[in-house]
Amino acid sequence: MRVLVTGGAGFIGSHYVRQVLSGAYPPPEPTELIVLDKLTYAGCEENLTPVADDPRLRFVRGDITDAGLVAELTSGVDLVVHFAAESHVDRSITGAADFVTTNVVGTQTLLQAALQAGVGRFVHVSTDEVYGTIDEGSWTEDHVLEPNSPYSASKASSDLLARAYHRTHGLPVCITRCSNNYGPYQFPEKMVPLFVTNLLDGRPVPLYGDGLHVRDWLHVDDHCRGIQLVAERGRPGEIYNIGGGTELTNRELTGRLLAAVGADWDMVRPVTDRSGHDRRYSVDTGKIRAELGYRPRVAFADGLADTVRWYADNRAWWEPRKRRAAPVGA
Ligand code: NAD
Repeated sequence: MRVLVTGGAGFIGSHYVRQVLSGAYPPPEPTELIVLDKLTYAGCEENLTPVADDPRLRFVRGDITDAGLVAELTSGVDLVVHFAAESHVDRSITGAADFVTTNVVGTQTLLQAALQAGVGRFVHVSTDEVYGTIDEGSWTEDHVLEPNSPYSASKASSDLLARAYHRTHGLPVCITRCSNNYGPYQFPEKMVPLFVTNLLDGRPVPLYGDGLHVRDWLHVDDHCRGIQLVAERGRPGEIYNIGGGTELTNRELTGRLLAAVGADWDMVRPVTDRSGHDRRYSVDTGKIRAELGYRPRVAFADGLADTVRWYADNRAWWEPRKRRAAPVGA
């Protein structure tokens, strides 16, 4: 079985690749796993160091908008898992062009190549942010898409293109829409690694607005297990929400991060709220639970403690990246 993973040098994609190649998922294991990654500021080959010597891994530095390269790499592939994206909301507010190019044009390029190559399964990794914001209750997969940021609008566009390639051409696409991830190897501009690394350095942390925005936090390992279940047994043309059920306001998460690092609230600096900031995300995960037996395994307290420890132990990984990080992030 040959697998193509786009964005496999980023936070979630590299976790997926490390897990696949270390035998964390049921057989069949891939005979070849190709990672296609542009290595933007957010990706680095070093994230694959633990599996770099695996003879099944082939790393290709390239762009998903490069139709010729993508056609070559999808040829003979059984499964595509598509993570590659511009992923940071704050960057999409200051400049959306790369988001449209990579997330929309890049995804269409990949879908077209997969169609022409006759790929057996295409998993499109989308996000719960495509739904917009919800004050009460949770979104099921048939909820209307009302994205509010240029990032989520570009992800909604790619999500709909993936759906259309199934409806129009019969491409065996599955779409996953996951909540906020945390874990090791996350670029230190996103809230958890930004706050942890600032606090480890004795520096203050920026909290947007009133801090009452609610996110559902899921460990990256639980997200990747959900993706793998969908790759193995998801029904073509279907959408699967993935979430953790740990809903926290940003203030609550900040309190837990301060406690984990042993810092006080005087380290918190309120900053002007993000434009168009979604108030609350909440996915209903009944479908993936009922159809595929999905359950998150990592208890939030344990996952957060492990994550804080990882950043404390891996300064050499994040210190150089932090110099390239956006000024605030959540
Ligand atoms: P990330 O920014 O850490 O990684 C993205 C990777 O894509 C990087 O390695 C980057 O080099 C690569 N890339 C970017 N543009 C590319 C291009 N044009 N061609 C090839 N490679 C390119 O992102 P992440 O947090 O790992 O997110 C992965 C996917 O999961 C994204 O599609 C994102 O929308 C989705 N997602 C993320 C979260 C989250 O909480 N982080 C939650 C739900 C869904």
